[in-house]
This record gives sequence, C-alpha cells and structure tokens, in this order.
Amino acid sequence: MAEHLDPLDELRAGLGELDTAGLRRRRRVVTTPCRPGTRLADRAEPVLAFCSNDYLGLAADPAIAEAVRRGSLRWGTGAGASHLVSGHYAAHEALEQRLAAFTGMDDALYFSTGYMANIGVMPALVGRGDAIFADKVNHASLVDGALLSRAEFIRYPHCDVAALESRLAASRAPRKLIVTDGVFSMDGDIAPLRELLALAEAHQAWLLVDDAHGFGVLGPQGRGCLAHFGLASPRLIYMGTLGKAAGVSGAFVAGQRDVIDWLLNKARSYIFTTGAPPMLAEGLLTALELIEQGDDRRAHLNALIARFRAGLRLRRWQLLPSDTPIQPLVIGDNHETLAVSRALDAEGLWVPAIRPPTVPKGSARLRIVLSAAHSNEQVDQLVDTLQRLESAQP
Ligand SMILES: *Cc1c(COP(=O)(O)O)cnc(C)c1O
Repeated sequence: MAEHLDPLDELRAGLGELDTAGLRRRRRVVTTPCRPGTRLADRAEPVLAFCSNDYLGLAADPAIAEAVRRGSLRWGTGAGASHLVSGHYAAHEALEQRLAAFTGMDDALYFSTGYMANIGVMPALVGRGDAIFADKVNHASLVDGALLSRAEFIRYPHCDVAALESRLAASRAPRKLIVTDGVFSMDGDIAPLRELLALAEAHQAWLLVDDAHGFGVLGPQGRGCLAHFGLASPRLIYMGTLGKAAGVSGAFVAGQRDVIDWLLNKARSYIFTTGAPPMLAEGLLTALELIEQGDDRRAHLNALIARFRAGLRLRRWQLLPSDTPIQPLVIGDNHETLAVSRALDAEGLWVPAIRPPTVPKGSARLRIVLSAAHSNEQVDQLVDTLQRLESAQP
C-alpha cells in the first residue's frame, strides 16, 4: 500500500527498475582537461572522445585559463551576492556590452547557465492564459521554462512551419511566444528561422531562439544562427550559451534594451541567485576574442564535418543530414546502439548512445560530435572503425 512505503525503499526500487531497463545513468571520471585524447579513471588506455560540445577546442585553451587566473587575482573567487544586490561587477558589465555588440543586439544579460536563462526568460515573458509554441524536439530546459510559466504549452512537429502557422492562427492567447533551438541538440539540423520569424511578426509573437549549439560556430565570425540567416527584428530574443563553443560557463540573453531591462527585473533565475564569479567573465572576454578571430578553427571544423560525411559509406545505419558539428548516426534498435557504443569504447573511441525518451522510439543513435580540436587522422579513425563495426554486426 502506497501510504506505508518507506521512502528510501521506494527510491531503491526505482533505481532497480532503471538497472533492469538498462537506463541507469552513471558518470565516468575524467582525469584530463577537456580534449579529444581523454583519460578516464576507470581505464588504463586513453580514449578518443567525440562527445563534448567544445566545438572550437576552447575549453582548455591556455589564453582563457590565463585570463581567468588574472581575473581571480583582480576579483577573488566569489561575487558575494546576486547581481541586483551587490554582485554585479565591472567584468560582468563589460562582458554584457561585448556580447550585445558581438550579436548585433541592443543589450545582453549574463546568466549563470543556459538552463537558468531558459527557465527565467520564458516565465518573465508569458504566464497563465498566454501560449507557448514549441518545436517538439526542443531542449529540456525550454520544456521546463514553459511548464514554469504556466502558459498553455503547444508543441508543433519538428520544424513544421505550416503546422505552427495553423496553431498560431487558432490561438486566442493575448501573448504568444514561439520558442526553438537554433541548432537541434540531438539532430544537428538548423531551425527554419527565417520562416519562424515571419510567423512571429505576422502573429505579434516573440521568437526566442536558443543557440546553445550555434553560437561561436555558425555565421560570420561565429556570431550565431541569426547572423547565419542575416535576421534582425524587435520580435527576436536570442539566447546563447557560454559553456559549449565558448569553452567556459554561463549563458546570455540578447535583445531590445527594454526586453533586457524587463528580464533583469522579472527573471527569477537571474534575480534569486548569486552572480557568477567575475573571473569567469574575464575568461569569457578572452573567449569572445578567440571566437571572433576563429575563422581558422571554424574552417578546420567544417572541413572535418565534410570529411566525416564523405568518408562514411554505410548500408544499414543512417547518418542524419546535418551541416553542424552534431552528426547523429541512427542505428534504431536500443540494444544494438548500446552494443555499438560499447564496441567503440573497446576500440578506444568514446561516442555516447542516445536512447528514448531523449530521442523518439526506434531512433536510438550515436551522437557524434566533432570539434576543431580533432585532427583529420582522428576523424578517419572514427570513420574506419564505424565502417568495420557496421559490417561486423548482424
Ligand atoms: C546545453 C544546452 C542548454 C543548457 O545550457 P547550460 O549552459 O549547459 O545550462 C540549453 N539549451 C540547449 C539547446 C542546450 O544544448
């Protein structure tokens, strides 16, 4: 009987069920900085990793580390308070101005993480009685932001602009927010942003674009997915994260000055949390320089993407169409996907298996992520190994 369940026994049973279903998650302890040649506490040999979102190879860049070190000497380690109390430092201010200029927006607001940015921004823009229109495969943080807002949560099929249009037309909500990943994190494809923006303008809706995987990678100088399409509009609110291509930590939201001022007054995940350490803002200022001057890194990354796609000749497994560093290889069956990921591990390659419910049933996949830190030879090694494993599997 439920009311007599010991709460701890219940958790233990739940963990047992995860074990049985092969869904219990465990972390692996990494003993090197983030880089392709990774060492792990649980194995003697190094592995070649294709799983981080360190697209430009900046996560362990010495110039950024040095900027953080100098920042720690100037500012110490802690902000001491939330931004609105006394935790907003000149380093944060300089970073926000730099981010606004870099993305071509009026103003920007620096959050501690992308997850916090999304769960703060959405409830600040819409509430009970309003409506959120969301791509079905958006990131979990956008789902959580929608739920927190209490607005009606209307999902449309992946990148289906016509379906979105009819849902918008049918809605009587006073405030509407369209929300999408810029680059989809499990598929690697780019949202049809020009069409989404046209709908936002026609229906007086906000368009919030989460560019966690495009910032630093797409567009001229890595300015992100809006610059990639050349889009600008007062309806647009841009969110970029700073722990992926930028190699540090945090996120920002950029848009019209009054939008940003509203968010700093209303976004609870901005207001009720201690400011991120100002030394990180110093590191991020250096990271932005490297992103802006990073055409060589992006050219090498794009060459690796082309090399990977051209090299792979598969019969049963399906490489999804993607021009971004996220290269999903759909195997389909959960057990086979897991077996392939384990076989890669045995060969010294670290590529995680992504299974439902993270991706739709029957589309279990390897999420292969390329980085400017990889070499041609490392990508060739991945291609050769995948090829061999596909012909060896039943
Ligand atoms: C990683 C990610 C986030 C969360 O950003 P963090 O800074 O890691 O919290 C949000 N949205 C998308 C699409 C992401 O991939």
